[in-house]
Amino acid sequence: MPRLQSILSLILVLVTTLLVSCGSPQATVPPPTYTAEKIEQLKTLVAPVNAARERMSELQSDIEKKNWVDTVGLLRGPLGQLRQEMLNVTRSLLPEDQPQAKQLVKELFGHFERIDTAAKNRNYDLAVSQYREALKDFDAFLNLELD
Ligand code: ZN
Repeated sequence: MPRLQSILSLILVLVTTLLVSCGSPQATVPPPTYTAEKIEQLKTLVAPVNAARERMSELQSDIEKKNWVDTVGLLRGPLGQLRQEMLNVTRSLLPEDQPQAKQLVKELFGHFERIDTAAKNRNYDLAVSQYREALKDFDAFLNLELD
C-alpha cells in the first residue's frame, strides 16, 4: 500500500514535468490551427495576390491581340512582384498547407516563363495554352483548402 502510493506520486511528478517541458518551447512552434490573428494576417497578405489575379484578364487580352511587348511588360512589371507576394502568403500558412501552395507557385511561374518565351517567339498557340494553365494554377492557389 505505501509502495503504490509512492508510485502514484512519482507518476504525478513525471506528468507535471512533461507538461511543463512541453509548455515552454511551444511559443516558437506555429499554432496547430488558423487563429483569428493568423487569418487577419493572411487576409492582408492575400490582398495583393487578389489584385494580381484581376490583372490576369489584361494578360489574356494582350495575348489575344498579340500585343507581345505588352504581354512581356505585364509579366515583368505589374505581375513581377507576384511570386514574392505568393511566397509571403505561403510562409504564413500552417506547415502542412505549405508544400501544396509552394508547388502551385512553382507551376504558375513555370507557365509565366513559357508565356514570356512564347511572346518573344510570337508563338500565339503556346501563349494561349500556357495562359490557360497559369490561370488554373493561380485559381488553385487562391482556392487552397486550409485546415
Ligand atoms: Zn500548371
